[in-house]
Amino acid sequence: MIFESQCAGCRRPGPVLCRTCRFALAAPTGLPRSTDVVAALPFAGRARDVLLGFKYGNRRQLAHHLAGLLVNRLVADGLRPTDVDVVTWAPTSRRRRHQRGFDQAELVARRVAAQLGLPCRRLLERDGASGPQTGRDRVERLHGPTFRVHPRVSGARVLVIDDVVTTGSTLRSADHALRRAGAIDVRRAAVATTPAFAVSGTTWPSVERTSSEPRPVTRRRPAVPAARPVQRAA
Ligand SMILES: [Zn+2]
Repeated sequence: MIFESQCAGCRRPGPVLCRTCRFALAAPTGLPRSTDVVAALPFAGRARDVLLGFKYGNRRQLAHHLAGLLVNRLVADGLRPTDVDVVTWAPTSRRRRHQRGFDQAELVARRVAAQLGLPCRRLLERDGASGPQTGRDRVERLHGPTFRVHPRVSGARVLVIDDVVTTGSTLRSADHALRRAGAIDVRRAAVATTPAFAVSGTTWPSVERTSSEPRPVTRRRPAVPAARPVQRAA
């Protein structure tokens, strides 16, 4: 395929990520600071081009490199592999997975887990994945998708990964579902985050925490996923 002979960052003929772009991504400028999600790259400029090439250009080979950047960022942020029991990802919709032939978040998560020496498991499934599409896209745009967790993750400390975070609602919803299924700690990470996400970190609808309540597994879901801060080990 002719596209694979171009760099995803600068389009020059050559490897899928040229040396110049590789160095540029290793020391990104303008990385948004967020306490909500650990991200390796700003979703802007060259990094954005690379991510779009990964997502829509079928450049799966980028997953290894992007995972390496995210692992470096997680470690710099204080993560130790002993802090996490299992790595998972926020799955894309079945429709998109079918269109692209792969789930980019899964590709990154599997490589992140391998590089950290941790197991990677499919734990999350989008609600309504097999139901009618009408209306769900709009709801997801507003509130993020809702997820079911399988199998149960009682007592587990989970690292959940997405490729690009824009509003943060997908990872928040995944975090919420994992905690309701018994996870005691959920850390959220993404390859890239939009600058707007970090700046407007409080613009999403907030829901009061009911942290003292037991959280039975239930099919009833809140209309808006509750935002829970990432718990960090002392
Ligand atoms: Zn390049």
